[in-house]
Amino acid sequence: MRVIVVGAGVLGSMHAWHAIERGHEVVHIEREAEARGASLRNFGLVWVSGRADGPELAAALRARELWEGIGARVPELGFRPNGSLTVVRNAHELAVAEAAAARPDAAVRGYRLLTAAEARRLNPALRGEFTAALWCERDAAVEPRTAQLALKRALLASGRYTFLGGREVREVVGEHAVRDDHGDVHTGDAVILCTGAWLGGLVKELVPELPVRRVRLQMMQTDPLGEPLTTSVADADSFRYYPAYAGGALDALATGQPQAPTAAAHRMQLLMVQRRDGGLTIGDTHEYDQPFGFDVVEDPYDHLAEVVEAVLGRPMPRIRRRWAGVYAQCVDTAEVVHRQRVRDGVWLVTGPGGRGMTCAPAIAETTADELGW
Ligand SMILES: Cc1cc2nc3c(=O)[nH]c(=O)nc-3n(C[C@H](O)[C@H](O)[C@H](O)COP(=O)(O)OP(=O)(O)OC[C@H]3O[C@@H](n4cnc5c(N)ncnc54)[C@H](O)[C@@H]3O)c2cc1C
Repeated sequence: MRVIVVGAGVLGSMHAWHAIERGHEVVHIEREAEARGASLRNFGLVWVSGRADGPELAAALRARELWEGIGARVPELGFRPNGSLTVVRNAHELAVAEAAAARPDAAVRGYRLLTAAEARRLNPALRGEFTAALWCERDAAVEPRTAQLALKRALLASGRYTFLGGREVREVVGEHAVRDDHGDVHTGDAVILCTGAWLGGLVKELVPELPVRRVRLQMMQTDPLGEPLTTSVADADSFRYYPAYAGGALDALATGQPQAPTAAAHRMQLLMVQRRDGGLTIGDTHEYDQPFGFDVVEDPYDHLAEVVEAVLGRPMPRIRRRWAGVYAQCVDTAEVVHRQRVRDGVWLVTGPGGRGMTCAPAIAETTADELGW
């Protein structure tokens, strides 16, 4: 079989991975010289904690397993099973963490409620003020800025993979074929469009009413911390964004402890992970209303720096980079991804939202299974 994959972000790369694994030939087409969308701009968090029961948790757990296996074969992905600590500072936040740790599926998620001292034994860099932490052993991380290139090198080594960068796919022609902006037609047994948050042009023509929206996030990276941050770290604002925390304790947190005004205005949480150079990737914000601002605004960075310094108990290293990224998210956020046959032999796979880096290996595996590869 010959599979045409359009878009070289993590979803496209993982579809290519599964096709190659199953003995097929892949032509991978990307409009930029190399991918530079959401898959490179994210935290690289393989985030199991907080996933909704059912298909979302199943996809995240399966993907975590696949990432580990792929990471063992492609060490440059930087896969590490570092786990995460969500730190809590008062009774409202503690109640949400306690409810999570008491869930019937807590063991599957690797949840455990730790005292501050236990959390510091796992991650000695956390010298700030907090009373307890929710440990999620299943959380992991990869290096997003280099992961796609690492996957590409591994795929090229198969001898059955062709990467065509700098080509934008403009139209679907007939069955199982696409035409790029060079006028070349690429024909396969299946075409998989993994075009991320580019919902206009080609995608709009194919599916005028796509149930997928765009979300914009602001991020930063610091100079090296000068010591290991052994786990990923989140603050209790993150409880507000993940379905597994829904319930009475979260309702009490929402009413009893409103978010700080900047955090509420920009729909923020703290997520923080250390890069291999020692720097910290820190975020994030969520902007839903379009047109998005074209500037990166400063208030969220001030807020994040305050939260980071409170957790670390020391000044945050200098900010080295700030950027924004956009992901595509199913309007029905319970959908893990939007997978649709848009023409004979042509599938669109987009909208994994803020869990696309986490779930991509499992999403692509499901496509491969459903298409009988
Ligand atoms: C700031 C930020 C932080 C995030 N953090 C996390 C995280 O830590 N963990 C997590 O699980 N998820 C995270 N996410 C979500 C995750 O990054 C995305 O869900 C995921 O990267 C989407 O992958 P994709 O391949 O669909 O899209 P993209 O990575 O955007 O790739 C799409 C590619 O398609 C190409 N393309 C588009 N149209 C065409 C065309 N017509 N022809 C050829 N090529 C085309 C684009 O150039 C692009 O390279 C984050 C997202 C953002 C923005």
